[in-house]
Amino acid sequence: MTTPEITVTRTDSRKVKPLDETLLFGRTFTDHMFIADYVKGEGWQNHRIVPYAPISLDPAAIVFHYGQTVFEGMKAYRAEDESIRLFRPQENFKRLNRSLDRLCMPEVNEERALSGLLELLKVEEEWVPRLKGTSLYIRPFVIATEAFLGVAPAATYQFYIILSPVGSYYEEGIHPVKILVENEFVRAVKGGTGGAKTAGNYASALKAQETASAKGYSQVMWLDGVEHKYVEEVGSMNIFFKIDGEIITPAINGSILEGITRKSIIELLAHWGTPVTERQISMEEVAESFAAGKLEEVFGTGTAAVISPVGELNWNGTIMEVNGGKTGPLSEKLYDTLTRIQMGVVEDPLGWVTNLSAPLEKIG
Ligand SMILES: *Cc1c(COP(=O)(O)O)cnc(C)c1O
Repeated sequence: MTTPEITVTRTDSRKVKPLDETLLFGRTFTDHMFIADYVKGEGWQNHRIVPYAPISLDPAAIVFHYGQTVFEGMKAYRAEDESIRLFRPQENFKRLNRSLDRLCMPEVNEERALSGLLELLKVEEEWVPRLKGTSLYIRPFVIATEAFLGVAPAATYQFYIILSPVGSYYEEGIHPVKILVENEFVRAVKGGTGGAKTAGNYASALKAQETASAKGYSQVMWLDGVEHKYVEEVGSMNIFFKIDGEIITPAINGSILEGITRKSIIELLAHWGTPVTERQISMEEVAESFAAGKLEEVFGTGTAAVISPVGELNWNGTIMEVNGGKTGPLSEKLYDTLTRIQMGVVEDPLGWVTNLSAPLEKIG
């Protein structure tokens, strides 16, 4: 397919790159960014790579007032042979389009978005860090730019891709986190926007997160918005339980964000001959299985941490220490396998990795 030309304007003042050892999460940004403009009736246009810089918007832009904005999150990894790898980027652009549709925003052409990203990565190649555990975080997002104080979909939008070199999520391999089950606030309800990666979901989650942090918990576990009974997800991760040998994750129901890591774990486990049960699971069931000594492992899944084992769950003051507060064997095995596939250390049995040094026609 023919892709419209992407113009590239290079910066004349490259930034000093931070040392890989000092990288945090989402604090430094690279030298360039990708932008495309949308005008209703004309479509997406003016695809360009320009120096990274603050942007100028009308104070009445719809994004500031009514939250018409969606985003994505993925990573580029540098393998030992210096090649740069992406993990299932097509899935991210598919999900971007599902989020855009939910917010009445114009969809992007998935192939064109991917080639924009690949062009940007070519320009920013040196920004992909090398230290074990580090990566280049990729943040595509779309905002409504029309200046109009009316509650209606905007007529103009901008699509951006920015890049941020990030440090290892865990300093020394994976380690278990403490989670507070949230009983008062809810993240999303069926029919709402929980299934879309849109700003409002995260703004409304801050209050519960703040309270949990003050109590020494790293994340909150969200329950369903109607009965406060069924497990939904954790912070910005999907959640899995291993109970008496069965691996269970809440079924996608319209309010849970459908993670690409979640999907990959389900597919990997199926490939190993261990099916995952996708169904409703209540906190009562989790607590009963814990009391019966059958709660073997709990772990979260997401791009940032890949696998995050849960060492403690606090539900209304009932403390459940999972697997003695230690990382379980399944969590460990999944983490090792997925990160090794991403880094090209082991074979990629399900064809998930896009290698940027491969001939372009093979990409995608
Ligand atoms: C992004 C996100 C996830 C995880 O999605 P991945 O594609 O695996 O990174 C899970 N829950 C929420 C709320 C998220 O925003």
